Amino acid sequence: MNTLILIVEDEQDILELMEYHLSKEGFETIGFLNTKRVEAALEEERVDLILMDRNLPGTEGSEFIASLRRKGVNTPVIFISAKDKDSDIEQGFERGGDDYLTKPFSMKELILRVKAILRRTQKISSEGLISYRDISLNLGSRTVMIETDPVELTKLEFDLLHALIANQNIVLERDYLLEHVWGEGETYQDRTVNVAINRLKEKIDPTKTKEYIKTVRGVGYSLC
Ligand code: CA
Repeated sequence: MNTLILIVEDEQDILELMEYHLSKEGFETIGFLNTKRVEAALEEERVDLILMDRNLPGTEGSEFIASLRRKGVNTPVIFISAKDKDSDIEQGFERGGDDYLTKPFSMKELILRVKAILRRTQKISSEGLISYRDISLNLGSRTVMIETDPVELTKLEFDLLHALIANQNIVLERDYLLEHVWGEGETYQDRTVNVAINRLKEKIDPTKTKEYIKTVRGVGYSLC
């Protein structure tokens, strides 16, 4: 379960350049040239951050974000726009932006701002680490350390642990995990999630002394 960044930018060259640099940092991206299909994508995918141009064919970017905010969508947004007057920037924040980058911009600055927002919203460190107690996940290299010891996890176990750590304090329902970790098109059995959780527990806590993950009976799982 990687970090997913949704980008709306009508200049294809800039869009491709952004996608290239973000993917080099280990982020997944989905790009759009206008806002038309963005709302549907937000319903289908768990998007972590939106990068939004303002001058677009069709709906203007900040008006689009304002309409999303009115519907209760609270995904973080960075506006990236040639509209660079103080009043433009003010308007961007008023309409629901969390940050504002004016064009022309450097990819380096974009990456720094993306990581800063994600650090606040997902508890990711500047090195791309997300952690819980003595466990740390490196989202770039997809490796796991407990204190200073590396732990070997399968892709599925890594994604499962990532989902739990990214949603600390929330009980994750089995259906949520099936949809977001296993994905569509898989066939599941009743015990699919249970079995995977138990295997994950054995790997991260072989002596059964640390109690990282708890089962909420009839609902799902959360970190302790
Ligand atoms: Ca534009």
